[in-house]
Amino acid sequence: MNKIELHLHLEGAAPPAFIRGLAQEKGMRLDGVFDENGHYAHTDFAHFLEVYEAATAALKTPEDYHRLTLAVLEESAKHGVIYSETFLSPDFCGGGDVAAWREYLQAIQEAADQAERTHGIVLRGIVTCIRHFGPDQAKRAALCAAETASDWLVGFGIAGAETVGEPIDFAYSFDMAREADLHLTAHAGEWRGPKGIRDTIRDLRVERIGHGVRAIEDPALVDELAESEIVLEVCPGSNVALGVYPDWASHPIGKLYSAGVKVTVSTDDPPFFHTTMTHEYDRLAETFGWDDGVFLELNKTALQAAFCRDDLKTDLMKRLEPPDV
Ligand SMILES: [Zn+2]
Repeated sequence: MNKIELHLHLEGAAPPAFIRGLAQEKGMRLDGVFDENGHYAHTDFAHFLEVYEAATAALKTPEDYHRLTLAVLEESAKHGVIYSETFLSPDFCGGGDVAAWREYLQAIQEAADQAERTHGIVLRGIVTCIRHFGPDQAKRAALCAAETASDWLVGFGIAGAETVGEPIDFAYSFDMAREADLHLTAHAGEWRGPKGIRDTIRDLRVERIGHGVRAIEDPALVDELAESEIVLEVCPGSNVALGVYPDWASHPIGKLYSAGVKVTVSTDDPPFFHTTMTHEYDRLAETFGWDDGVFLELNKTALQAAFCRDDLKTDLMKRLEPPDV
């Protein structure tokens, strides 16, 4: 089945073998990044962020990001993804400097073009600021985004530790991105409850929410989400791996979907959470009895909520529809 994925962190999607190889080439030691099986090691969310940043230390140049993008898209295409939006962070790509960021962006875009020719997968970028780096650093990321906004660089968002600061602290950055005609999304409702989601919608005026699953704790908010058609980028495997929910059966995606909330499915940081798009679909089918019809509907929802141009959506929609028999 062809799939649309809206929530994927580029560094977080790096195959462990790729990062290991890169570190070896550079003679770098990545202590504590891998477990004894060669997977990414992490115990909880704080540790995950630590390991994520340690693994990212091997990625130093635009050329590294070119190779990373190819490795990630090859993997996504294997699982039927035909369109993906990936979070890119100028903090990791050039330290928030606009001129340096342009070089990284160019390398990533060239790799994306190459992957599109080879695997038929289309990529678009969303700049994210990192919440725990603070509002001033976020403004630099927003400036990078605003300066490079294009048909390819289509959005702005915020990731990182949700418990640090308040959404309003980042309103300036989101306003700057909005003025540059970028689409907006924000991580919320993963580590904070309904209030964090409400504050995010009010103060950052986003079109989509990354995760947003803890809306389920407030029925009025669930109704408001359904009514306002704000789309949730739900990553069930990530939530279960990090202990937001103890298991798939407890995950609220089924209830949110039944309540009419526009949900979509993504992998977040797939190798960190031992998941793939195929794995997510298999577990959802198994847990909630969802069939191909439901998945097609979710993929259409995701494509409608994508930040790319309408003519591209029209082309991709044809690839989602099953061929007539
Ligand atoms: Zn995420």
